Amino acid sequence: MALDPHKKFSRILTITLGVGAVVFAITRFDVANLSPLLAALLLFAIVVTPRASIPMPGTDIALTFGDACIYLAFLFYGGPTAILVAVVETGANCIYLYRRGFKFDPLMVPVNIALNVTSFTGAYLIWSVLPPSSFTNPVIGSTQHLIVTLGMVAVLHFVFASWLMSFLRAKHRLVDAYRSWRRDFSSRAMMHIVGAGLAALVYMLATYGDVLTAVISCVGIGIVYFSYRRSVSELKEAMRSVEEVQREKAETERALRKEAEVHAAELAISLESQERANLALRKSEQDFQHAALHDALTGLANRKLFGEKLMARIAKYRRDNTAVFHVLFLDLSRFKNINDSLGHTIGDKVLSIAARRFLRLVTPSDTVARIGGDEFAIVLKGPSTAAKAKKVAQRIHNSISQPFSLSGNRISVSVNIGIAPADMEYTMPEEVLRDADIAMNFAKAQREGVALFTKDLRTRFLERVRLEMDLSHAIDRGELSMNYQPLVRLSDGKLLGFESLLRWNHGEFGNIPPARFIPIAEDSGLIVPITKWILRETTEQMAEWRKISAETGNLLVSVNISGKHLSSEDLVYDIEYALERSKLSADGLKLEITESTAMDNPEFTLKLLKELKRLGVLLSLDDFGTGYSSLSILHKLPFDTIKIDRSFVSGVGPNGEDSEILQTIISLAKNLRMKVIAEGIETPSQLSVLQHLGCDYGQGYLLAKPMNAAKAEAALYEGKSWVPLTSEGERPILRPINTDLSDITVF
Ligand code: C2E
Ligand code: MG
Ligand code: MG
Repeated sequence: MALDPHKKFSRILTITLGVGAVVFAITRFDVANLSPLLAALLLFAIVVTPRASIPMPGTDIALTFGDACIYLAFLFYGGPTAILVAVVETGANCIYLYRRGFKFDPLMVPVNIALNVTSFTGAYLIWSVLPPSSFTNPVIGSTQHLIVTLGMVAVLHFVFASWLMSFLRAKHRLVDAYRSWRRDFSSRAMMHIVGAGLAALVYMLATYGDVLTAVISCVGIGIVYFSYRRSVSELKEAMRSVEEVQREKAETERALRKEAEVHAAELAISLESQERANLALRKSEQDFQHAALHDALTGLANRKLFGEKLMARIAKYRRDNTAVFHVLFLDLSRFKNINDSLGHTIGDKVLSIAARRFLRLVTPSDTVARIGGDEFAIVLKGPSTAAKAKKVAQRIHNSISQPFSLSGNRISVSVNIGIAPADMEYTMPEEVLRDADIAMNFAKAQREGVALFTKDLRTRFLERVRLEMDLSHAIDRGELSMNYQPLVRLSDGKLLGFESLLRWNHGEFGNIPPARFIPIAEDSGLIVPITKWILRETTEQMAEWRKISAETGNLLVSVNISGKHLSSEDLVYDIEYALERSKLSADGLKLEITESTAMDNPEFTLKLLKELKRLGVLLSLDDFGTGYSSLSILHKLPFDTIKIDRSFVSGVGPNGEDSEILQTIISLAKNLRMKVIAEGIETPSQLSVLQHLGCDYGQGYLLAKPMNAAKAEAALYEGKSWVPLTSEGERPILRPINTDLSDITVF
């Protein structure tokens, strides 16, 4: 290890001083001093002194016999010998410590020796120059002299030794040396005093006492020494155990501190993760709240949020009737068809596009919501009058009607919109929505697109709801019955059969016309179970009537089939079942399908009619002329008969005017190789014209009104003729049918 220059210098200086002292001692050494006693003293200094130190508890100082040896040599042989003993004693001590594993810094062994030797030499030199002379020879002096001499030498020895060591340790400044002296070496005075005391004691025993006293004293000193060492070691042991306890305590405290720190860290981590969890929880709460109030597909408000916003508008309006609002109820028409034919993914996209269009056409203060599958609602804050709200609705209606293409499909949707203006009678959102819904249904029924709610609409709506409910129980309550209206061959008045017409005798309202309840039955789907019942009733009835006579054996019953039933998968089965059950031959049943229903989905109609034809039943195209048939399709459909709508017949005047259309239709039917039935024949002239035009069959109040089963049966038994008599009481002259088709225009 490299020493810093200051240390190096001070150590070399010390060694130099030591060497000087040793040289001084050698030059002054008296050879006569070499004696067994000096040898014994040196032996003691080498062997016993290093091993017999007494450590002072609580300090780093150990009392040794080293100083006692030096002082004893001084007393017996004078200073120079004592200086040489100091060399031997310090050297032996260093060697002993070195062997015990003590690590000395470079030069520290000679420095230690030099330090002790120099300081003692200094003490000796000062003592030797001090008066009175008796001090210079302690041997001849009294005990007091001995004490003074040794005390002086010991004190001087201590002063030199301690200050030299302090200077060696401190760096540059005197004040540092003083601090070092006070801190580390001032307490060493004790070592020198004790050493001097021991030396004095031994000297006095050896000089003034006899051998026995010396031995006893030595034993006594030995006992004191060993008991002192024992108590010192006990004290050390006690201190060690106290230290041990303190260390353990410190250790425990450290462990506890560490544990507390770990806990604190864990707590911090858990607080942090709790904070994170709280944040995530708050976020998911917000997401949850948003999801709870919004429609996932379109992102619009859902029914709940719409209800809340509408409630706020209602409350505001009730406080201040200038805070007008309008609620729009929007229903996408034919959306089910899109879903069914193009799939739900396209259906979802259509809804999203519709939602975006709605949003574009209203202001940010308005609320647009999706409240059902294809139902939307809007609260308009802006328009101050119903007329203005209707304009907004009209704009929305027109915008939605614009076709758009999606995944290669050209899609056009339309929307029916009902408007409910703010009204003091509204207290709950459902009431406003209900009225807007009523208006929407009216718009749909009237094919108007947009309709404004009125109280009259609500009355009609409620009535309709009531009828729908009652109709569902009508069969069970026996309120339904069939009327039969004869279908007559116009050439000879022969009965072809009957058209069955449903009648509802309501328990409270009496007879309700089919025009009122049939649409309700169709909208609600009740028409399907009702038609099953009709099929049963009529086929059984006709099977019965066919048995009456040979003339009735070929009659048929014509049953009206609604579009709803046509599109249900059950129709073919229901007919098969009715025929089977009634044992009516299939040619005794004719099915009437209106032109508009047949043309709604011509491919489907064609497929279904073919299946029905396979059963052997007859088919009639009802209300012909009202459904915009395409001729290219018409000629493919396997109808046996075309029924000319009543409106074409009723237009024919008393002199046969306005009969051109009838003529055209009849010619067309003949070209298509179908029979023609004319409905609504009310006057003889209409009958006459139809006969002249070669119409095959007729039906109308002139021939016979619809009648109940009993009356029809009575007529059958009677064998009644169905062509009315002329005013003169004769039958009208049936002219030959015009079969020349060259002048007929096909429309
Ligand atoms: P539709 O099938 O065209 O039936 C003919 C309608 O014309 C009947 O009306 C009949 O009473 C009426 N009618 C017959 N001759 C005359 C006439 O000379 N003058 C006038 N003004 N009317 C005449 P109704 O019974 O009121 O039935 C109306 C419509 O209700 C039917 O028209 C049919 O579409 C529907 N309907 C009636 N019964 C049924 C049924 O059982 N099932 C289904 N699905 N619809 C039915
Ligand atoms: Mg009909
Ligand atoms: Mg008809």
